[in-house]
Amino acid sequence: MSQRLKLEVKALNAAEGQDLVILVSDRLALPSAAENAAGRSAQALLARAAAAERYKGKAYAGLTLPAPEAASYERLIVVGIGDADKIDELDFVKLGGAIAGRLGAGRTADIILALPTGPIAAEHGAELALGLKLRSYAFDRYKTKSKDKDEAGPIAVTLRSDDPAGLKKALKAADAVAAGVVLARDLVNEPPNVLYPEEFADRAAKLKKLDVEIEILDEKDLKKIGMRALLGVGQGSRRESRVAIMRWNGAGKDEQPVAFVGKGVTFDTGGISLKPGAGMEDMKGDMAGAACVVGLMHALAARKAKVNAIGVIGLVENMPDGNAQRPGDIVTSLSGQTIEIINTDAEGRLVLADVLWYTQERFKPRFMINLATLTGAILVALAQENAGLFTNSDELAHRLTAAGLATGETVWRMPLGKAYDKMIDSKFADMKNSAGRYAGSITAAQFLQRHVNDTPWAHLDIAGTGMGAKDSEINRSWGPGWGVRLLDRLVADHYES
Ligand code: MN
Ligand code: ZN
Repeated sequence: MSQRLKLEVKALNAAEGQDLVILVSDRLALPSAAENAAGRSAQALLARAAAAERYKGKAYAGLTLPAPEAASYERLIVVGIGDADKIDELDFVKLGGAIAGRLGAGRTADIILALPTGPIAAEHGAELALGLKLRSYAFDRYKTKSKDKDEAGPIAVTLRSDDPAGLKKALKAADAVAAGVVLARDLVNEPPNVLYPEEFADRAAKLKKLDVEIEILDEKDLKKIGMRALLGVGQGSRRESRVAIMRWNGAGKDEQPVAFVGKGVTFDTGGISLKPGAGMEDMKGDMAGAACVVGLMHALAARKAKVNAIGVIGLVENMPDGNAQRPGDIVTSLSGQTIEIINTDAEGRLVLADVLWYTQERFKPRFMINLATLTGAILVALAQENAGLFTNSDELAHRLTAAGLATGETVWRMPLGKAYDKMIDSKFADMKNSAGRYAGSITAAQFLQRHVNDTPWAHLDIAGTGMGAKDSEINRSWGPGWGVRLLDRLVADHYES
């Protein structure tokens, strides 16, 4: 949202900013490419300061020093890379984040893109820039005091590269991904009085400017189609429900699309099965799955990915008014199967049931991946370290796991099976929407699977990873925009023609 960072690319030979940023290994040697810009006495200064501060050049650890006398810059900022032989692509993203964490508002800085082992290749420079951008993000739209605004003042950064042309090219894709993550973060952070289903659909519709085709289904359309499970969740709210469909056509007309489906409960009170009051404000994040899908579609379109991709998001508000759905109600989902509502707070699966069925029937995708802040039980199992992965496809499991390790947005595969499926059989209908506490994230996944045919499908339970994020090198935002980088990477690695 707020553009706190201005990036420029220039050649490696000099530096002009107030801060000079240099990467050092655990041997504390300045890269030879940095010697010119840093000046002769910089190495000795670093050695003295490092000894005094017990600074060891560990990965992402930094040290900020006053510049040596007669230097053209004011501060020397060193950031550690640890063992120079072990650095990988994710390290570059995190290094960018660590650097951004040391830069000050309203200042100018040069970053020397070199390691002790030599210059940093353009693609790695772009990864570092991605980290810079992600860490520089702050959601301050609703801060009106000037102190807060000053803290968000722009930082002008010049990336010093031995291949400026190559880096500029590589930055285009990185910028597209960064913009997608930022969009997802904004959506998750927005308050629920501002971001309700209709407004969410309008925000998704803004992807038109990137040549994404948009279709918005309103309640009249949804009734006609027969999405009664989804509509049942929204019926207790004054806000109308919506389904938004986004299509990016980056490959040939006949190429089968890939599909991404998101849970977009813009606020979840639990409905008649009302949640406890404490912490309920966090339920504005119950649309993080849908936010990820919108951010991903933005990233794919902005970098002109050579893929046909569909994004479908189910947007509802789960409220407990006089028209609200009751425990005991039975609804008929789009698939024709009936569902007994046991707990109105198990609403995400009802929304997804209809949207998944609709997506596979209409678009016949190569695969379908849904993201949802679906269960507290996934936090019990995995904390915030991994998203829960449930899938009917070993191939998707392998590919998602690898993309997770590459991006740091990791997933952990959880089981599906007949015994768990049986737990959602209902006395009165084809299935029930809640089977109680035990294996809660698995029975939720089984419920979704009952609305998937033989389409390769994966469900990512992001209740832990999608909101309330812990601070990391690349994120200080409550809504981390989790999943955009993971899925962009999955597409880039396997599905572009
Ligand atoms: Mn709920
Ligand atoms: Zn929910």
